[in-house]
Amino acid sequence: MESEKQLRQTAENISKSGASLLRGGLFKMRTDPQSFQGLGERGFEIFKKVSREFGLPIVSEVSDQRHIELMEPLVDMFQVGTRNMYNYALLKELGRTNKPVLLKRGFTALIDEWLLASEYIASAGNERIILCERGIRTFERATRNTLDLSAVAYLKARTHFPVLVDPSHGTGISDLIKPMSLAAAAAGADGLLIEVHPEPARALSDADQALNPSQFDDLMVDLERVLVALGRPLRRPIPQTTTPSNVVVLSHESKSLSH
Ligand code: PEP
Ligand code: MN
Repeated sequence: MESEKQLRQTAENISKSGASLLRGGLFKMRTDPQSFQGLGERGFEIFKKVSREFGLPIVSEVSDQRHIELMEPLVDMFQVGTRNMYNYALLKELGRTNKPVLLKRGFTALIDEWLLASEYIASAGNERIILCERGIRTFERATRNTLDLSAVAYLKARTHFPVLVDPSHGTGISDLIKPMSLAAAAAGADGLLIEVHPEPARALSDADQALNPSQFDDLMVDLERVLVALGRPLRRPIPQTTTPSNVVVLSHESKSLSH
């Protein structure tokens, strides 16, 4: 999330195409400390306004335990990023909140370690956990990460967690996002987390792995075809422009993209 204009343009486009959540980074976890770090608290009011305008619940990454209290009234779901999957103090603290937690896979994490991380949240009292496969670091350098879609099928067969796939970070390459999204749906994913920017080339973060609105729309059309073929048609979000932003949209029972 860079500015009100950029967030609004993005939200307007993705909601037309059928997205059900608005994800934006306020406190960004960047490898390079000199790069854009996010709007922080200055972005809260913008986020609330745009979320209400388009009826899209808010997802944002919490990177520091000290921000949980600050962010809790704003977000509908907390995101834990790949670098924090092993931050057990943060996970335990999120276990004490009543918001769903989107737990991204650590980029060096075994599936078992990822599931143990989820237990830190669950055993502190919060069982609303959504796992997100976002690629792992392997010897392969052609792609930014290696997207492990076998993890999706594995988890769907062995756990009760909803599983999302992030083909943006999973590949780092915008033209691979659509094929990997369709493959993720076929592997059983419950939802996708995709970076969209009105003008990806000008994005302050992750420009190479964002889609523009028309590419995103094109992806959603084909995604729907795949889901229909699989007998799991896309669940269109119910417009909820009047819903307060603390509504819980994801749980073990209700999944984000399909049912
Ligand atoms: C993100 O989702 O924007 C992000 C930084 O992801 P990850 O933690 O998977 O790198
Ligand atoms: Mn990103």
